[in-house]
Amino acid sequence: MNIILMGCPGAGKGTQSAKLLQAFPLHHISTGDVLRAEIASGSPLGKQLGEIVNKGNLVPDELMVEMLEKIVKSTDKGIIFDGFPRTVPQAEALDTMMQRLHREITHVIMIDLPAQEVVNRICSRRQCKKCGAILRVDIKNPLEKCSACGGELYTRPDDTPERATHRLEVYRNSTLPVKNYYQNSGKYVEVNGNQTPEKVFEDITKILEK
Ligand code: ADP
Repeated sequence: MNIILMGCPGAGKGTQSAKLLQAFPLHHISTGDVLRAEIASGSPLGKQLGEIVNKGNLVPDELMVEMLEKIVKSTDKGIIFDGFPRTVPQAEALDTMMQRLHREITHVIMIDLPAQEVVNRICSRRQCKKCGAILRVDIKNPLEKCSACGGELYTRPDDTPERATHRLEVYRNSTLPVKNYYQNSGKYVEVNGNQTPEKVFEDITKILEK
């Protein structure tokens, strides 16, 4: 099984990936996490990437594809692609790469979310520095600590209302065309993301177990 999880920012790709990892023997590649780790390392490349990512823009395709191929080659397990491909050239490069590596994308799952819900969700999103849990807080009364492990919570620098709105624009312009790319492949399915995480996961599991 090699799964592409698609959906706008805040659709719940990270949350569903974590659930999938508990249920299936898969390897998770979140390009957002890979980029944030490089930025946190403070390397010259990380500094360059930080300028792009923190403004809510996309990293150039060639660089993304190169970073991704290294990770794909490092595992024999089935993969959850979370945040990749984000442009049609990335989708084409992924097809070529998978063919070359004698692997195949088996499912393209789109987590659908109404636009008005997106910015709300993103701005109330916090991540735990310690266990990585993604939590939703009440903006008027935000949590101080992670409810799962007590770790410190942080807000991603690209999760402000302005940047979230910009990321949604970038998503509409660059990533939605990827949906058309896969729509007639026989692998494309949509799930309703405007449900509890548990229900979304149930819907995804049904698709994978078919
Ligand atoms: P979200 O889906 O909530 O926007 P991600 O963690 O997937 O969050 O991505 C965060 C940021 O990382 C994106 O806004 C973009 O700047 C960068 N990024 C992630 N994946 C890619 C990709 N495949 N191509 C280009 N940039 C990417």
